[in-house]
Amino acid sequence: MTIVLFIVVSAVLGWMIGSSKGKGGAGLALGIFLGPLGVLIALFLKADTQKVEATAIQSGESKKCPFCSELIKVDAVVCRFCGRDLPVPGTAMPEAPGVDPEQSTASPEAPTVSPENAEM
Ligand SMILES: [Zn+2]
Repeated sequence: MTIVLFIVVSAVLGWMIGSSKGKGGAGLALGIFLGPLGVLIALFLKADTQKVEATAIQSGESKKCPFCSELIKVDAVVCRFCGRDLPVPGTAMPEAPGVDPEQSTASPEAPTVSPENAEM
């Protein structure tokens, strides 16, 4: 029974490590067949960057920069790789219609001092 538990733990560990690199199946197989050694190998597996990126985009926590196509946080307003401003959906629409309060209160009939009054 101990051996079975050992294999299960190794398989789960391998799967967890593999999943973080987009290779859950490979990590699981390594854990099952090689036990702790497989877990170690899973640790040194090269991450499948494209798959990890796709997973991050699908989960909605990341997006790709439209300028340099690096993976960035979905809330980012400036790309941390290329430093460009990002188009943020939702801020394109102004909250208030373009009425400037200063312009609406300014009266065109402001009293002016006439030169005739100044002479008298
Ligand atoms: Zn960028």
